[in-house]
Amino acid sequence: MLRQVAQGVLVHESEFMQSNAVVVQGADGVLLVDPGVQGHEMACLANDLHELGETVVAGFSTHPHWDHLLWHAELGTAPRYGTARCAATVRDVLLDADWKARVAEGLSPDIAEEIPLDLFGLITGLPAETARIPWDGPRVRIIEHRAHAPGHAALLIEERGVLVAGDMLSDVLIPMLDLSETADPVEDYLAALRLLEGVAGGDVDVLVPGHGSTGGADQVHARIDQDRAYVHALRDAGVPSDPRVGPSATYGKDWLPGVHARQLQHLARRRERDGTPG
Ligand SMILES: [Zn+2]
Repeated sequence: MLRQVAQGVLVHESEFMQSNAVVVQGADGVLLVDPGVQGHEMACLANDLHELGETVVAGFSTHPHWDHLLWHAELGTAPRYGTARCAATVRDVLLDADWKARVAEGLSPDIAEEIPLDLFGLITGLPAETARIPWDGPRVRIIEHRAHAPGHAALLIEERGVLVAGDMLSDVLIPMLDLSETADPVEDYLAALRLLEGVAGGDVDVLVPGHGSTGGADQVHARIDQDRAYVHALRDAGVPSDPRVGPSATYGKDWLPGVHARQLQHLARRRERDGTPG
């Protein structure tokens, strides 16, 4: 079911990790950001759009993680974009003759059979420094940064006051750092939060995270602060007093503490290797 969060901006929530697909209405059709996860959910979204008399004229993937790269035939054949770095990362995955098997290994096992991979990752990279998504609709600013995943981008729908945060600023998931070797996980994440803070200093009325609840204007800074506090705690090898991963967590109790522990271990190993004090 599509839910309007601002004029001309609708959200379709998936059962899987409260994933949010975002629909932006344009002149001749809609822009669809991170369409969803399970086949039947994307078919439902396609049907909802059909009932509104809308067709998809452009797609966008916020980052190259499997749950943001899916598509359904009934959504049509519009160009699907991502940042150049996002597209390059996906291209490397698809170059492997066994990519389907490899991607399938990373899927959530309980819903793996429900996840269609036929149109997985068919992303056109927008040239680096592209400021806006090329389409005939409200201006959608691309805010690329280095956090969570290579080529991760948030989107700012300026005229509607909506920030689509990708996998940042969630109320249910702790920050998940990009732990690849080329990244400086902590500093990259903090820099990305500063970037989003600068953007949100303008007029953001609605925040839509890739996973979790949509927030109002007050939530933008609250979630930036919460994410920053978590990353600081990770950096300082402290125990975060973070409701998303603590005993009162309402979501992901069985796996988020494991993610947290792995991030702590990873950073500790890096400190040891680099000889950084603390
Ligand atoms: Zn992700």
